[in-house]
Amino acid sequence: MSEEKSTGSFLGADITLDHVSKDYGRGVYAVNDMDLKIEQGEFFSLLGSSGSGKSTTLKMLSGLEFPTKGHVYLGDEDITQVPANRRDIHTVFQNYALCPHMTVWDNVAYGPRGKKVPKAEVDARVNELLELVEMSEYKNVKPDALSGGQQQRIALARALVMRPKALLLDEPLGALDLKLRHHMQDVLRHIHNEVGITFVYVTHDQEEAFSMSDRVAVMDKGVLQQVAIPEELYAHPVSRFVADFVGSANIIDGTVAAMREPGLYEVAFPAFGTLVCPGVRGLAEGDAVCAVLRPQDIWLHGLADAEDKVRRKGIVVDRSFSGSFTRITFDAEGTRMTCLLTGNGNTGIGLTEVDVAWLSRDMWVVPAE
Ligand code: ADP
Ligand code: MG
Repeated sequence: MSEEKSTGSFLGADITLDHVSKDYGRGVYAVNDMDLKIEQGEFFSLLGSSGSGKSTTLKMLSGLEFPTKGHVYLGDEDITQVPANRRDIHTVFQNYALCPHMTVWDNVAYGPRGKKVPKAEVDARVNELLELVEMSEYKNVKPDALSGGQQQRIALARALVMRPKALLLDEPLGALDLKLRHHMQDVLRHIHNEVGITFVYVTHDQEEAFSMSDRVAVMDKGVLQQVAIPEELYAHPVSRFVADFVGSANIIDGTVAAMREPGLYEVAFPAFGTLVCPGVRGLAEGDAVCAVLRPQDIWLHGLADAEDKVRRKGIVVDRSFSGSFTRITFDAEGTRMTCLLTGNGNTGIGLTEVDVAWLSRDMWVVPAE
């Protein structure tokens, strides 16, 4: 009756990066003045292209690298100079790093045995973790006999069996094919819910970051560009870079003609005239800007009359069907744009000229550069 949830023994902590920078000695910052707090229990992702400094950030959290400047805290403890093996933080990598000569059970038990955890406790923990990752029946098998997804589950169990306060995951699903990756995303979410500790997840895949995370940090050239919940990043990017990086976007150049109120502007677009659009705060009259318009916010035909409706003719230049969506590329007033229709885009089939419409309130204005 009073049985505790089997995983109630995990205790997480928040992570603070206090103006952390890393220079590998080449005079360039791989990570530049990163200032960030990751909450206890959060599923937090670092999203950026290759070389943007994601792995370097994780290494400074795990102790595999030390910052050139700044401090790292786990809860209230300053761990900046604490060696990796004395941090309550563990990492799962893309290559599973399992010992091929040991069984699954011994692989998972290896860490706690090395820490002289009593045998009964080791057995209980290994059982608990193998159950959590649904690999109990493979306990006597060697890693070679397992699929990539199964090996990654064992790698997860091996990290979690150490009862870390935070788990770091560096592109852990990168080696898996798409279908398995989607399945393992669900598995990871489930495990995160069960153990409740802080997860810091690194990926270059925007959809993966969005579908799994409570919050996402977009990085570029070692610099944090924006930290927000996925919906906010998508709808209200702070820059053209972020808008482009998180999903596809129509980017339409313009100039601020006037500010109506903070965050609401009259913008002169050479292609479409002057429209009233929301945008980032702090823009001023005369600023070169661009408006971000998501493909699914453009309608072919339809769209009930609204005061801020923009309606134009589009000349279709391309059409690609990808299963759930049809992407239609068209030119409107000399501007190349795309829209997204669900399914096979029946309404647009065979047409070379389409009526396109959108709402100026769906155009989000950011600085041009
Ligand atoms: P990401 O994980 O986002 O691909 P990294 O953190 O691995 O990015 O790398 C960021 C930058 O730091 C890159 O320019 C990379 O070449 C450089 N870098 C990474 N590790 C080292 C290292 N050990 N020595 C020198 N430069 C490094
Ligand atoms: Mg990396």
